[in-house]
Amino acid sequence: MTDMPTRTCIGCRRKDDQGSFLRVSRESGGRVAICERGGLGRSAYFCRESACIEAGLVKEKLARALKTTVTEAQKAELKEELVCKLR
Ligand SMILES: [Zn+2]
Repeated sequence: MTDMPTRTCIGCRRKDDQGSFLRVSRESGGRVAICERGGLGRSAYFCRESACIEAGLVKEKLARALKTTVTEAQKAELKEELVCKLR
């Protein structure tokens, strides 16, 4: 048994420990960015898989998870940053 908090990938809905996911948070000022550690507020999680990043960035999944609006430009930028983290 473990009491590690579990999080859900917004791409594939897989549940796992927070540490195994890439985390994206809404920062003050409205910017949506990859959050390496700490941080408050709403976050969304992605498996370290390009398929999940792709799946999580379609439609309004990310916007719903963060309860904010995410523009197409922000999503494109975020996707590039997330994919870089896979290497
Ligand atoms: Zn996933």
